[in-house]
Amino acid sequence: MDKDIKEGKSLVEKLPRVSTSPGVYLMKDINGVIIYVGKALNLRKRMASYFFLPSLDSGRTDIKTGVLINKISDFETIITETENEALILESNLIKKYRPRYNIILKDDKRYPSLRLNVNDPYPFLGIVRKIKNDGAQYFGPYSSAYSVRNTLKTINRTFKLRKCRTRDFKNRTRPCLNYQMNICLAPCCLDVDKDIYSDIVKEVALFLNGKSHALVNKIKDEMTSAAGGQDYEKAAILRDKMFAIKKTLEKQVVVTNDFIDRDVIAIACRPEYTVITILTVRGGLLIGSRHFCFSETVSIESEIVRNFIMQYYIKNHYIPKEILVPVLLDDVYILEKWLGTLKKLKVRILFPKRGNKKKLLNIALQNAENELMDRVVSDSKHLDLLSRLQKIIKMDVLPGHIECFDNSNISGADPVSSMVVFKNGKPEKKSYRRYKIKTVVEQNDYAYMSEVIERRYGKGGASKPYPDLLIVDGGKGQLNIAVSILKNLGINEKVVVIGIAKKDEGKGETSDKVYMFGRANHVNIGRQGDVLLFLQYIRDEAHRFAISFHRLRRSKTTLRSVLDDIPGIGKKRKGILLKHFGGIKKIMEASIEELITLPGISSEVAENIKEKFDR
Ligand code: SF4
Repeated sequence: MDKDIKEGKSLVEKLPRVSTSPGVYLMKDINGVIIYVGKALNLRKRMASYFFLPSLDSGRTDIKTGVLINKISDFETIITETENEALILESNLIKKYRPRYNIILKDDKRYPSLRLNVNDPYPFLGIVRKIKNDGAQYFGPYSSAYSVRNTLKTINRTFKLRKCRTRDFKNRTRPCLNYQMNICLAPCCLDVDKDIYSDIVKEVALFLNGKSHALVNKIKDEMTSAAGGQDYEKAAILRDKMFAIKKTLEKQVVVTNDFIDRDVIAIACRPEYTVITILTVRGGLLIGSRHFCFSETVSIESEIVRNFIMQYYIKNHYIPKEILVPVLLDDVYILEKWLGTLKKLKVRILFPKRGNKKKLLNIALQNAENELMDRVVSDSKHLDLLSRLQKIIKMDVLPGHIECFDNSNISGADPVSSMVVFKNGKPEKKSYRRYKIKTVVEQNDYAYMSEVIERRYGKGGASKPYPDLLIVDGGKGQLNIAVSILKNLGINEKVVVIGIAKKDEGKGETSDKVYMFGRANHVNIGRQGDVLLFLQYIRDEAHRFAISFHRLRRSKTTLRSVLDDIPGIGKKRKGILLKHFGGIKKIMEASIEELITLPGISSEVAENIKEKFDR
């Protein structure tokens, strides 16, 4: 900790020694953890704005800033030569420390994109969930799996790109049905001119970049020249292609008539959440929108937007010529320069006040506000549900933190357990845990339960935070085991435990039952069916998570035993194969060429593997 703090001097006393140069500041909490990173043109002025009351016209949300100020125990500043350097340093430090109160853009796998592997001599267009910096071209992200599949379907019908994945492509000995249907040139087996194929790839990229008007004109010219040369068959094919593209154009919303590519960024804030919405406009057509939601943000809007722009476009997202923003950014020229270097072309960031661009901003803003309201309403629904659950099972506190356990095994083989976590009624996947059962040799559900509960809560302080509510899958037996373990650990007063057991249809039961410790009969949920549904949802989530882990373990065990008999395969090579392919099916499908690319797999060993699976 800083010497001044140790000596009890206040942070305000540090201010006169802060430089007035540009630079980056790092806010730290009482444990020295960096909780916020920001940049400033004048470091002293910026730091002073935190420790003296912010003026109302500063745009800073008072509640949010108050939250940050209360947490700050110390700060550090780093001087830079220019504001440009400060911008880069701020971005690097946010990436490095992931401070709690900065916005951090995670990889959002909900939104699929299309990937065109242009480095391949015959590129393939596939759906991916992650955008990598691998030299391929990416398009999207699309708002849903449905919309990305529809686009891919249109492309596969209209353009003669290959439809098979690279692995199948390499192993083909004759063209597939797509060739007979005249929707693929069959580069897998036929000698297809690379220039002709590359022309198709360019057309697909034009189409996906929203340049359909230009594409239609190009095809029209080709059609006219084909008809002029009396190649009527080719002209008819081009006509069909043009109509197919025109049809997709009819479904798209025209928002501007200047055909410029632009992203429109809007922001909506409340103390609980900040939502950023980005509208993607390509060639004047609105082709998609995406929302990003952040909790615990404390920055002012212009800082959030700047941080968002830097994190979003560095992730290999397409950078358009123009970006519309909802607030005036004080470092707009530096940001434009930085984006221009990434894109290798001039990029403009505009804050429109009137006209069509302002209208576009308003559409984005409306969408951001709707998304924000949806989040807030959904939270209040969850709170209502949790407070009814609290009443039903007579808890002293709201069950804001719930943990639920389930086991999975087949006749005692490879037993595993799972723990899922729900915070404020919503799953918190990053806190889910999987356990391999270590101490129980025979199939015994109670013993599995007791082992994992002991492992989860038996680490003293390291087990914290404890949940408000612990749910076990099962009836009174499992419930009693869980309570007795918590009692042994001395935390049974802190955690409420319930069991949820399946209905016994043989006994005429119509719904699952909830058990509480010390009660002979199950709890009467009454008409609050949604509370029972919520508990079932948590139990089913634990079940799903346990089963998926069990399947993974079993497939690895099976794979291990199959690989055991192959000459030349020992523990190390087994590990390499498992790590690379992840399952038997993929190893079986792998070609000798693919196998020998792995470290330690010689052509002799690869042949042994092939022979084993061919047999
Ligand atoms: S014809 Fe060949 S290249 Fe085209 S999709 Fe079928 S297998 Fe792939």
